[in-house]
Amino acid sequence: MNAEIIAVGSELLTPRRIDTNSLWLTDQLNLLGVEVTAKTIVGDDRERLAAAFLTARGRANIIILTGGLGPTEDDVTRDAVAAALGRKQHFRQDLCDAIEARFRRRGRVMPEINKRQAFVIDGAEALPNSNGTAPGQWIEENGHAIMLLPGPPAEMRPMFTDHCRPRLQRLLPEQVIRVRAYRIALLPESEVDQLVAPIYTKYANPATTILAAAGDIQLHLRARCPTEAEAERLLDEVGSQIEAILGDRIYSKNLDPLEVVVGAALRARSQTLSVAESCTGGLLAKRITSVAGSSEYFLGGFLTYTDRIKNRLLGVPEEVLRENTAVSQPVAEAMARGARERTGSDWALSITGVAGPGGGTEAAPVGTIIAGIAGPTGCRSQRAVFVGDREQIRTLATQLALDMLRRELNRQ
Ligand code: AMP
Ligand code: MG
Repeated sequence: MNAEIIAVGSELLTPRRIDTNSLWLTDQLNLLGVEVTAKTIVGDDRERLAAAFLTARGRANIIILTGGLGPTEDDVTRDAVAAALGRKQHFRQDLCDAIEARFRRRGRVMPEINKRQAFVIDGAEALPNSNGTAPGQWIEENGHAIMLLPGPPAEMRPMFTDHCRPRLQRLLPEQVIRVRAYRIALLPESEVDQLVAPIYTKYANPATTILAAAGDIQLHLRARCPTEAEAERLLDEVGSQIEAILGDRIYSKNLDPLEVVVGAALRARSQTLSVAESCTGGLLAKRITSVAGSSEYFLGGFLTYTDRIKNRLLGVPEEVLRENTAVSQPVAEAMARGARERTGSDWALSITGVAGPGGGTEAAPVGTIIAGIAGPTGCRSQRAVFVGDREQIRTLATQLALDMLRRELNRQ
């Protein structure tokens, strides 16, 4: 079974409004095992909408239209679909009464134009709207399921969940969808793909998707099977091959971000952490403390932007700063060591670098990040040169530091 979504509304063709309904609906349909094969945005125009609807009906089993069910002249979805199907509409007094009652509860009188919303396409089921005036409509026709839903997300979502999903489930073959997700830090998307493509291209089921963000890749496997046991078996079969090839580059198998993974590892070892940051200005501490319960392992941090403060707060020796400059491995290591000694934590992370866009030098071009780590077994640092804007480079820097700690903790 495949579906097409038609978002109706001239405002959705301007830069000011985004069609979010189709994203939400796609997610819902995917969970039911239905693939969305096309989506269309059409302005409030009867003829164009009727044509788009007929095109969709020619290609898909399930057609969902959102928007254009309002009371005004520019709301044409009902009329366009009725015309395209060659059906008439009939007035439903009970729907009209429900709309009127809704106005009355708010101490208002129903405007005459709202009566338009009480018309139902012949052969359609009216779907109650508990969050607005416009009822939805459900039509089954020659192997097609057609839904007309209101545009406001707060009305559309519950209507789909309460009235469309159960009807769809009745029509769909018995099946379950199970997802396995992996997260990988600091590898380019192309490199991850090169490693895993030889595995996943052998399987149409589970379907594999790769989502990339700055220094963070998600790999999703979606298995669609008649039973849960079959889905899990397929995920195990493909997942075990992916885990074997990516090894410890996988930091999470359940979508947890790095700060959660590292926090759990610290807690499991009853160890503590502190940080010393320069160019990230507290972003590393923010990520660590965004995890509820981080007070169990996070002691605190130092925000040391200038050389003088690196020296005064962390004890980075003046001559180390002078001889190596602030963006150097000896300074990153001295920062981590200083934070660890001053807080008494088991571990300390440090970050120094050039986030840009200005301030790059030949020795330390924009994007240069050095992360340091001090721990029970000593101190080390890692240098990377990242590409991106200031915010991306700062995010990548925290990713580098957290991933260093993750690997150290795994080694313990
Ligand atoms: P309508 O049902 O066409 O009168 O839409 C009413 C309101 O719902 C619009 O002004 C939008 O704010 C919102 N809306 C309509 N369609 C969408 C959509 N596809 N995605 C998100 N919001 C929408
Ligand atoms: Mg509209």
